[in-house]
Amino acid sequence: MKKFSVLIVSLVLLASLITVSCMAATTDSPDIKAIKDRGVLKIGVKVDVPKFGYRDPKTDKIDGFEVDIAKVIAKKILGNKAKVDFQAVNAKTRGPLLDNGEVDLVIATFTITDERKKSYNFSDPYFTDGVGLLVKKAGKYKSLQDLNGKKIGVAQSSTSRKAVQDEADKLGIKIDFFEYATYPEIKAALDSGRVDCFSVDASILNGYVDRSTMVLSDRFSPQNYGVASKKGNDGLAQLVNDTINDMKNSGQINKLIKKWKIK
Ligand code: GLU
Repeated sequence: MKKFSVLIVSLVLLASLITVSCMAATTDSPDIKAIKDRGVLKIGVKVDVPKFGYRDPKTDKIDGFEVDIAKVIAKKILGNKAKVDFQAVNAKTRGPLLDNGEVDLVIATFTITDERKKSYNFSDPYFTDGVGLLVKKAGKYKSLQDLNGKKIGVAQSSTSRKAVQDEADKLGIKIDFFEYATYPEIKAALDSGRVDCFSVDASILNGYVDRSTMVLSDRFSPQNYGVASKKGNDGLAQLVNDTINDMKNSGQINKLIKKWKIK
């Protein structure tokens, strides 16, 4: 009799376990269900930031650290890392593309700020950088102090201008800012002497150093990069955050940083 009741209890337990796991498998939030129905995840990445998101002009292929993160998230949602539709974004376009649903996620050196958190969901940070300064070697500049009265090129809608301005205020120096849509444009302005310095996160600048330029050792204003999604797509935001934290805890993020030789 005792054996019989143990058997009944075990069967009931087993049945409830099966029910719970079936429920978990079928209760996708509407935002994730929409992506599964579509069969492809749409992700905004940079195409002009070597090692993070870069389109090789020879092969037309986009790759980098953030592209690899995108593939891991696609695998998690759709079971296949190739089911991603990459869209080129820059600092100015990435927010509007999320707003109008052109992309589900932005993984594009997007710094988490309190202001931006009012408009988008951000995952926990997957990378931290500082704002840096790229100058011509011939200019003999050593630090921001030496750029008093000079022109600095920054990207539109980026955090760079405020970061440099705050630092310039501390030093009591004056800077003239010029804003551009893309990084190649700022580099061209530096090369032709229209600006004296190109400022953005140091890891972005590292992709633009050449024989006649150098990144100064100054670093300002820590920039924490997060994966952004549209407010309201909260199931997606949760899944992305869990994936980023799994990747951090398992050492996968560090492996990717090594793979891409990011300093
Ligand atoms: N990470 C900075 C930002 O989010 C620099 C600009 C950029 O990401 O392109 O504003």
